[in-house]
Amino acid sequence: MKPIQMVDLKQQYLKIKTEVDGAIQQVVDSTAFINGKPVGEFAGSLAGYLGIKHVVTCANGTDALQISMMALGLEPGDEVITPSFTYVATVEVVALLRLKPVFVEVDKRTFCMDPESLEKAITPKTKAIVPVHLYGHPAPMEEILKIAEKYGLYVIEDNAQAIGSEYKFSDGSVRKTGTMGMTGTTSFFPSKNLGCYGDGGAIFTNDDSLAIKLKMIANHGQQKRYYHEVVGCNSRLDTLQAAVLNVKLKSLGIYIDARRKAADYYDRVFGEHPKTTIPYRANYGLHVFHQYTLILEGVDRDGLIQFLSSRNIPSMIYYPVPAHKQQMFAAFGGSDWLLPDTDWLTERVISLPMHTELDEEQLAWISSAVLEYIGR
Ligand SMILES: *Cc1c(COP(=O)(O)O)cnc(C)c1O
Repeated sequence: MKPIQMVDLKQQYLKIKTEVDGAIQQVVDSTAFINGKPVGEFAGSLAGYLGIKHVVTCANGTDALQISMMALGLEPGDEVITPSFTYVATVEVVALLRLKPVFVEVDKRTFCMDPESLEKAITPKTKAIVPVHLYGHPAPMEEILKIAEKYGLYVIEDNAQAIGSEYKFSDGSVRKTGTMGMTGTTSFFPSKNLGCYGDGGAIFTNDDSLAIKLKMIANHGQQKRYYHEVVGCNSRLDTLQAAVLNVKLKSLGIYIDARRKAADYYDRVFGEHPKTTIPYRANYGLHVFHQYTLILEGVDRDGLIQFLSSRNIPSMIYYPVPAHKQQMFAAFGGSDWLLPDTDWLTERVISLPMHTELDEEQLAWISSAVLEYIGR
């Protein structure tokens, strides 16, 4: 059996090696390392895939969030509502820009922003909402967009974990996640569902003038070289990464199917087990399983992790500390925040190996090891 990893980038690479190697060599031969042709090609292909007007590439998913907030003109003191149950980057940029993070609950089933908790958190200072499509499951966008419209707020979708995921509105129309807010952001960090071989990110929008601002801010605030209109940053997707992404984007559908197939396998094993709750799949969305995350009840989680590790099976807790309890955000209230569902989840979640290369032998080995520990 192949060794089991949380993410097996090597096996995935070997399947596309010839094409990737060729694409990389072409960039090296061209020496157009910055803003070479593959960058624009990738932005165009991704826009086509997502069904969005503009894709602005940048250096990583954290910058994508930051650039969005800068382009929307958010100012110090403005409140930005985010779930606490997310990767720290979502909130970090809010604090970095001297905006004020306001934490809300997630729905215990979807792991995504709870609309009721969101609406309660709105104040006259609220300017933006950042739903996160956590683990690859879409947030309840129809409700969130309605609330945003009612109060005149921007929606920035943090789509770093859910590229390719879909949301179905009650009128039957379907949109890709990341394309429903004022902007959507993503990361091409290697372990993400569409990962490059280093850092990368992108911002999506349908708004023409916002697209110009986003591009300008990502490029030192200039449209014309050496004429700097606003304070921006230096955030680029480099040509080598774009070349890799051009190859990998063609396989994104296959990658999503492979993840969903692995998730189906785990679901069959753990679906009826009294000590495990399998990931919820809302009928409004397509889950692309960036992570496969179980909720454990009555299980010594650390013991399970150690037991799996003794069998060379990795597992992870995403995330052991919710954002509202992170030391870096202590100035924003720390444990004054009452987010019992978030705390509840933090104590119970465990993510099993999930990637595009898992085979049935590995899935059977992982599953039976879990069952051996928690009981059948
Ligand atoms: C990975 C991730 C980011 C940040 O992406 P980077 O490319 O690592 O900067 C932001 N938000 C979420 C939810 C993520 O998972």
